[in-house]
Amino acid sequence: MGRRLLFLGPQGVGKGTQAAKLAKLIGVPHVSTGDMLRQAVAEGTDLGMRAKAVMDAGGLVSDDLVVAMVKERFAKSDAQCGYLLDGFPRNESQAVALDRAINGNAVELVISLTADEDELLRRMEARAEEEGRTDDTPEAMQRRLALYWEETAPLADYYPAHDVPVAVVDGMGTIDEVFHRVVAALAEIDP
Ligand code: AMP
Repeated sequence: MGRRLLFLGPQGVGKGTQAAKLAKLIGVPHVSTGDMLRQAVAEGTDLGMRAKAVMDAGGLVSDDLVVAMVKERFAKSDAQCGYLLDGFPRNESQAVALDRAINGNAVELVISLTADEDELLRRMEARAEEEGRTDDTPEAMQRRLALYWEETAPLADYYPAHDVPVAVVDGMGTIDEVFHRVVAALAEIDP
């Protein structure tokens, strides 16, 4: 089974939930740049203070800061046996930086989760009520989705062009239904 995985998908598609479940199943660390940045904000670190305003507005934190954060995470011992990236790379320049940083240890499989736009907005609104995230205002949600289509979605072409397969998985349905599809897609590519 591939152990160097990357999840791709718009906000609200259920990426974080599925990534956490899959990381646990296959025993690799779940590396979520969104979670790491939110933690930095909560702890009031230098990085957190620099990132907060951009995050609250639904923008992207600078590539330099995020790439440095991911490199530091990859240097830890638990990441040596593999990883499951979630929320990174967000654009082509981060993808190139990732390829350079982990040369010889490259991504083996991209799982691209999809859902209807209506469903994405519905799930983001539900999460906004549940979690009270400061970046879940309607304006920030729209900006994040727009940035996703502009900057992140093209990575679904970047990876096949670099000989990394992309498995497209339907993210509509219950958490368990989607998880079964994710596991099946993984088994199909790498039995
Ligand atoms: P997420 O939880 O992945 O939706 O990330 C929440 C916020 O953190 C995003 O809206 C961005 O402001 C920031 N962020 C997370 N990952 C990245 C990244 N790879 N590059 C730039 N900004 C990021």
